[in-house]
Amino acid sequence: MSTNQLRILVVDDEPVVHAVIEEALRAPGRELLFASSVGDAGQIIKANTTIDVALLDKNLPDGSGFDVGRQLKERDPEVEVILMTGFATVDSAVDAVKLGVFDYVTKPFDDINRLVLQVQNAGEKVRLKREHRRLVARLLDSEQRYTLATLGANDGLWDWDLLTEQMYFAPRWKDIVGCSDVEIGSSPEEWFSRIHPEDAVRVRSLIRTHIDGHLPQFKDEHRMLHKDGTYRWVLVRGVATRDSTGRAVRMAGSQTDITESRLAEQQMQYDALHDAVTFLPNRVLFLDRLGQAVARARRRTDYRFAVVLLDLDRFKIVNDSLGHTSGDELLGAAARRLETCMRAGDTAARLGGDEFALLLDDLRNLEDAVHVADRIQTELAKPLNISGKEVFVTSSIGIAVSNQTYSRPEDLLRDADIAMYRAKAQGKARHVVFDPAMQGRPVRLLELDTALRRAIERREFLLHYQPIIALDGGRIVGFEALVRWQHPERGMVGPGEFIPVAEETGLIIPISRLVLEDASRQVRAWQAHFPALPPLYVSVNISTRHLMFPGLVEDVSRVMRESAALPNGLRLEITESAVMENAETAAGVLEALKGLKVQIYMDDFGTGYSSLSYLHRLPIDSVKIDRSFVSSLGKEGENSVIVHTIITLARALGMEVIAEGVETADQLLQLRALKCDHAQGFFFAKPMAPDAASALLERHPTW
Ligand code: C2E
Ligand code: MG
Ligand code: MG
Repeated sequence: MSTNQLRILVVDDEPVVHAVIEEALRAPGRELLFASSVGDAGQIIKANTTIDVALLDKNLPDGSGFDVGRQLKERDPEVEVILMTGFATVDSAVDAVKLGVFDYVTKPFDDINRLVLQVQNAGEKVRLKREHRRLVARLLDSEQRYTLATLGANDGLWDWDLLTEQMYFAPRWKDIVGCSDVEIGSSPEEWFSRIHPEDAVRVRSLIRTHIDGHLPQFKDEHRMLHKDGTYRWVLVRGVATRDSTGRAVRMAGSQTDITESRLAEQQMQYDALHDAVTFLPNRVLFLDRLGQAVARARRRTDYRFAVVLLDLDRFKIVNDSLGHTSGDELLGAAARRLETCMRAGDTAARLGGDEFALLLDDLRNLEDAVHVADRIQTELAKPLNISGKEVFVTSSIGIAVSNQTYSRPEDLLRDADIAMYRAKAQGKARHVVFDPAMQGRPVRLLELDTALRRAIERREFLLHYQPIIALDGGRIVGFEALVRWQHPERGMVGPGEFIPVAEETGLIIPISRLVLEDASRQVRAWQAHFPALPPLYVSVNISTRHLMFPGLVEDVSRVMRESAALPNGLRLEITESAVMENAETAAGVLEALKGLKVQIYMDDFGTGYSSLSYLHRLPIDSVKIDRSFVSSLGKEGENSVIVHTIITLARALGMEVIAEGVETADQLLQLRALKCDHAQGFFFAKPMAPDAASALLERHPTW
């Protein structure tokens, strides 16, 4: 770089990359050379005595960018190499580090300015290194050390008289170890006593070897004790001067503080293997550790491990509504919670997006893995504080346990993935252990999706209605509409089997619209047919996806207009988790629905983690106590206390309470005693076809 011209070699087999780079980097003072293959690059390297910076594509038609990098580095260790790739494997990351790659960029370039900056930095670094070398070279063959010292080079110079054992240390040398001029004497021990114990023997022996004439120069990187008690990394070079007999009489050289670049190098190694958002190991490192575990399991029959794969259910919705910074914060918080669920020796990694994995090492039995999954789900379900807002997430988990037939880490990940999909299909916030019978599962998911699409076209969905009873007087006040799929071959399919999949694929929206239309038509028909009864209502379940769907309010307003049912005829049931997961958006939607005079029920209350007082801030009219609390009423004291508390609080907050899943007379009695408003359950009636519901109204039963 004697001409001050920065010579940049770009090796890439895509002409378009040449064009983009030429456009971005062309500037006075820069000379750009382009090659398309390892062979081409070799010719250019031969023809140019110096190359300063190289931008290398990792995959070339006749080899790899590493080959070119190695060639360049062998000829001139000062060249700066920037690799253009994504680090796809551990090998390439390690290769890159070995090569001393200064930096890397991933293609396609999403920020060309970053590339320009990287090239500028690389150029600056080369310039400094070359200047440094020139200075040291001049020092070593002349008496110019004082001149050099005043040049302000980063080097601390030293000069050692081997005959008198007196040593000169320049101010900068003393500065590197944190000492002032007067604090360091002129004994060589000032140097040796500060060298880190692990490096000291090597340094002395290298110096000895050089003095004895077996090494052309002394050069070593080692740690030096700083006055503040820390160690600094230094690069020390020196050369001996000899008398006519060849005996070394004097040795002089320089000491450079390289702590920063050492740290940068460590940082780069770290970055290549970790995720920048959560600081967890990334996929590359995870697969590496998993690979080691697979190998160990093949050697040792008593060694077992498991892969726990999870993703945060509907993380995307949280991310979209609160913004990416909050999304990142959420990922970080989730990562910290994951770490609390593992033991030393386990690995938690972020594989990408909202997907995390745990490698549970040295497992005693399968139950241990399931236990960890349980803990993860409990931990993750606790509210998180993200940018001052409470956010709730749940996770679907797939578990794959090692066996001797696994030979590749990817296979375990794939099986854990299949299990995770099954967990999602079963309704999220669950964990499922892989078993080989699941192999075909993704296909079945796909089939289900196709079948659902067809079912929507053919209108194969129908509604069953379950009466809701006023406990004071025992009258039917309304019905809950529960969807069924009249499958041409399989017969009646329950919502549990297809709603979660429809949520996942988005088909829930058209299905939900059909349900809304049907239910409003039905309530209008009943109101017209039973004019003597106080106006009935029908409540419809609204899924998370539909709640977050921008057209929901419009959908509801349209069916209300079309059916012309009486006010309060249509009510919506929304689950606690749907509201809590997307609190901000949900609050707005609920307000808009209130504007349409639609009553809102909180469904499955008690299964999530919201508090009643929080719900009070939302326009909710009633809460439905989840079946799980009602079913154990009277069996365990604790549940009746919970039910009692919910009822008392809800009343205080002006909300009505509906008990779900009442199955026995005893439960009914207790609910009455607790002054619960409404109830619903098999004790009164199962969900039934519209005709049966009409017949029931006809008879007008009272319980
Ligand atoms: P959900 O909204 O909590 O509905 C109550 C569920 O409990 C219904 O199950 C009902 O048949 C059942 N059930 C009622 N009383 C009893 C009882 O005494 N004992 C027992 N063991 N179960 C009782 P179903 O119809 O299978 O619906 C399950 C879930 O599917 C519903 O829970 C709801 O979350 C969802 N779902 C149903 N229809 C729709 C719909 O149209 N749209 C959406 N998004 N979800 C729906
Ligand atoms: Mg419901
Ligand atoms: Mg419910």
